[in-house]
Amino acid sequence: MPRQTEFGGTALSNEDFKTFFHTQGSPNARYAWDCGVGIGKYLDGLKEGKLVGTRCDKCRRTVIPPRVHCEWCFRPMDAWVDLADTGRINTFSISHVSWDVVRLEKPQIPAVIEIDGASPGMGILHLVDEVDPQAVRIGMKVRAVWKPPAEREGAITDIRYFKPVG
Ligand SMILES: [Zn+2]
Repeated sequence: MPRQTEFGGTALSNEDFKTFFHTQGSPNARYAWDCGVGIGKYLDGLKEGKLVGTRCDKCRRTVIPPRVHCEWCFRPMDAWVDLADTGRINTFSISHVSWDVVRLEKPQIPAVIEIDGASPGMGILHLVDEVDPQAVRIGMKVRAVWKPPAEREGAITDIRYFKPVG
């Protein structure tokens, strides 16, 4: 029987360890992660192939990823807003090494994309592709390249990358 500790947690007994961590010879350390209402709706939108933000009527800002409270006004946001899957490159980098420091034959272009319909400066970090890295410019118009609907799982990787428009 788990017992409460003075710090509010739950102490585990030796029997708990045997049950939780040595079931069938491997750890049974399952967990759940709650992303909250704002990011939950954002991830649901990605699965449907759309970008969702929220709007604050008081300061007239539309933000992405969505928040449920405005960090400027300290009040609840007023509405969910479906945004375009297009935007402009706010800033970018040309990376010749991967996240785990392996040299890349083809460089990656991580960029902050200001999403159309969101307030200026509101954007998401993603990759840009289908473009010569030397041709990428701040302000360049880009569009999301989505995975096919059957392959989407409600993650930012449901967008493969952004590519230049036109
Ligand atoms: Zn506000």
